[in-house]
Amino acid sequence: MLSLDLRSLTIMAGLIGIVMGLVLLGLRRNYPASIRGMRLWGTAPLVCACSTLFYGLDGVLPAPLVALIGNALLLVGVTLFLLGSERLHGLSSSWRRWATVITTTLLMLAFFMHVYPDYRLRVLIFSGTLAAIVVEHARLLGRHGQGFAHRLTAMALWGQAAVLVCRAVTTLWLDQADTQRFAQSMVQTVYIATFSFSVLLVSIGVLLMAGERVRAEFEYLATHDSLTGAHTRRAVLAACAEELTRWSRYGNPFSLLILDIDHFKRINDEHGHLAGDHVLAHFVQLIQSHLRSADRLGRYGGEEFMVILPETNTAAAQTVADRMCAALDATPGSPDLPHCTVSIGLTTVQPGDNTVDALIARADTALYEAKAQGRNRVQAG
Ligand code: GH3
Ligand code: MG
Ligand code: MG
Repeated sequence: MLSLDLRSLTIMAGLIGIVMGLVLLGLRRNYPASIRGMRLWGTAPLVCACSTLFYGLDGVLPAPLVALIGNALLLVGVTLFLLGSERLHGLSSSWRRWATVITTTLLMLAFFMHVYPDYRLRVLIFSGTLAAIVVEHARLLGRHGQGFAHRLTAMALWGQAAVLVCRAVTTLWLDQADTQRFAQSMVQTVYIATFSFSVLLVSIGVLLMAGERVRAEFEYLATHDSLTGAHTRRAVLAACAEELTRWSRYGNPFSLLILDIDHFKRINDEHGHLAGDHVLAHFVQLIQSHLRSADRLGRYGGEEFMVILPETNTAAAQTVADRMCAALDATPGSPDLPHCTVSIGLTTVQPGDNTVDALIARADTALYEAKAQGRNRVQAG
């Protein structure tokens, strides 16, 4: 049977960590700068690897030095994974708190090494602190992330925490106060092997998390208008087509609004293009504040917008549209954000509506009537 001694296993795990760290740091250059935390994540497995390689120097360097520096590096490495995730999610960094915890832990380890030597207490303190950092990380991912990569990483972290807790508990009856750190024992071998494997899993997990974030960002860019943050024309038309399918299948009614800002060209001419841009961005914010989460607002083109209102009949859609019209008119103007009004064409799906184009044509005709009747009003078609 293939047998690996503990030292080889430790060094192997260290080497795998180095490869993972280099991959993460290398990929960082290919990812948009908005994907944050990659540098911390890349450094984390490298530091963990340095720690395991340091443990591998046991016997070459003085034992207390190996133990303390090795432990310090592992604590820092595991914390860097956590700090990387905090950065990815734009959370404030907890590095000060963990620096204090790590310093205190190291002082305690030094105390139980030199003043009151006790191996079991050292294992308990060290594994306990590592487990606390890892649990904090797993909880953070549970709170702030969704998707496969987050779940995988959180699972790897919970597994890592379980291994650490088992190690802390088993030391109480398996080890003695004067046990040697690299003494061959089944528990120690299993502990180091599974812990190293979990660092590898966490590294893969964060790599996938970064990939997931990149995909989400590109998806957002492809479906949202960069100036206003509203959906793109394509996205809102797709939502409309979906509602039409739902209606033909289940009979759920929905309404469609086309909104066109009044005399927008005049705003550009009198106040400048930049002020016009501000008006568009503010307009979208205001309209969005009148919508439910299931409603869809998209920029149809220029200063024309489209709103899909699922499960909404004409009367309800009219009320919403009237409110939007009145709210915009009531917004006072400023040189930076000139006053404007909007005309809205409204239509509700009817039997015989087979295409999105049919609905749009009806809403467009209604909009045209609203303009002809003096603007700043809602017209149902
Ligand atoms: P009406 O009341 O009949 O709708 O008149 P209008 O001036 O709003 O309509 P028109 O279609 O003549 O003008 C639309 C203007 O919107 C022309 C175009 O320069 C401007 N526009 C389109 N996209 C943008 C944009 O992204 N930013 C700015 N500032 N202006 C834009
Ligand atoms: Mg207009
Ligand atoms: Mg227009």
